Amino acid sequence: MTHLIDGRPWEGTAERTGPVFNPATGERTGAVDLASAELVGAAVASAHTAWRSWRNVSLARRTRVLFAFRELLHARKDEIAALVTAEHGKVLSDALGEVTRGLEVAEFACGIPHLLKGGFSENASTAVDVHSIRQSLGVVAVISPFNFPAMVPMWFVPIAIACGNAVVLKPSEKDPSAALAVAALWKEAGLPDGVLQVVNGDKEAVDALLTHKDVKAVSFVGSTPVARYVYETGTAHGKRVQALGGAKNHMLVLPDADLDLAADAAVNAGFGSAGERCMAISVLVAVEPVADRLVAGITDRMARLRTGDGTRASDMGPLVTREHRDKVASYIDAGVEAGATLVVDGTKGDFDADGDGFFLGPTLFDDVRPDMPVYTDEIFGPVLSVVRVASYDEGLDLINANPYGNGTALFTNDGGAARRFQNEVEVGMVGINVPIPVPVSYFSFGGWKNSLFGDSHAHGTEGVHFFTRGKVVTSRWLDPSHGGINLGFPRNE
Ligand code: NAD
Repeated sequence: MTHLIDGRPWEGTAERTGPVFNPATGERTGAVDLASAELVGAAVASAHTAWRSWRNVSLARRTRVLFAFRELLHARKDEIAALVTAEHGKVLSDALGEVTRGLEVAEFACGIPHLLKGGFSENASTAVDVHSIRQSLGVVAVISPFNFPAMVPMWFVPIAIACGNAVVLKPSEKDPSAALAVAALWKEAGLPDGVLQVVNGDKEAVDALLTHKDVKAVSFVGSTPVARYVYETGTAHGKRVQALGGAKNHMLVLPDADLDLAADAAVNAGFGSAGERCMAISVLVAVEPVADRLVAGITDRMARLRTGDGTRASDMGPLVTREHRDKVASYIDAGVEAGATLVVDGTKGDFDADGDGFFLGPTLFDDVRPDMPVYTDEIFGPVLSVVRVASYDEGLDLINANPYGNGTALFTNDGGAARRFQNEVEVGMVGINVPIPVPVSYFSFGGWKNSLFGDSHAHGTEGVHFFTRGKVVTSRWLDPSHGGINLGFPRNE
């Protein structure tokens, strides 16, 4: 797998490559070229040239490309989903779900002529008109994580392109094929060569993007330490940066909640995609006296989950790499050592797969306390921790004290409590009886606190804002009455 530079696969020989695995079999299925800083420079230069024309392509023609891309992606979504499953490991239905969520952002971007409309005021001063326009930034970089190899690039790429920018996309080196396949669809849809470049790589490529003078903005999604680094380095180099980071999402269950619904939700949101979602629920906060019943309900449901190859009838696939599986498994030991109650041990289980895949079954801890590593760290795997609290207030304080603020959910049948929660909780995305409150494309996606550095969330109108700059034009068409010298600051008259 190589880069896509100026509309064509790169033909050079990479000095460094990275392995790509099928996590369900443990087999190494390919190698991805890792870009040098020089190659990133070539991609940015080509993108910059393409931007100079693309920025002035009419909205009508841009929109035609977007609609064509939307149709192609819709027609080929199963192929893209299969690539996601082959390199990420998530089950096919889940992979298809992520492609569909990405598709929705492309659909939103089809409305770009309306979204880019400026304002106009006639006679702001006598015979003076003022209007605003939004213009593209230039070359923008998109750097994405392994866990949504199709969707996360699509949170940004369609909007950035629709706004008239050129994009250099750096997908995760762990599962680059989906992004490359989607980039091929853009070309097929009629996007001029160079407007979308794909460079594969690791820190070297990211650093080259963060420091390149012609990269004007960076959209990053990944873990918190890297997000913070990307934000600090990018802004220090004068770029506009939105850097979405990690998460530790809590689901608060009040005693009046429908406990069956809550147990279903905890299992779906805790173990879907093997817990490798930034919106996964990793902490269940049970307000007494319902914890025993909730833990029993969740345990029953976990016993029915099938873990195995994502192309088979599995509910949950493997983890992305062997190292990550081992790291997640190490938290099971750490939880036991810290004194949490291990209710379900994911290391014991049968996996429906051939070979030596990176599997770990779903794991449940009860009696978790906020000082334990299973609570403090983002594990990013199928490990759900139950924290028992005595009241709503205790649960809310726990959530608000957490350094992450990506998503949270409340389960209750009390409208007043739900209303209070949505007002008081310090988290960017809130679900009320919805365990994974992922905003739809026309709302914006993003957390608070250590889950997002920068002030713009992804997609929706904030995305359009992020990828454009405002300009205000004041105009007067001269006639003889406008003559004369006056050095005073102009007054509105
Ligand atoms: P990661 O931070 O390891 O990698 C993300 C990107 O940064 C990749 O493209 C990678 O090549 C690059 N990168 C890695 N290390 C780097 C370094 N030292 N310097 C510069 N670039 C570097 O994240 P990941 O493991 O691929 O993805 C999982 C993480 O992403 C989790 O923490 C998850 O919560 C987070 N995530 C957040 C959101 C969100 O919306 N907030 C969405 C999806 C994933």
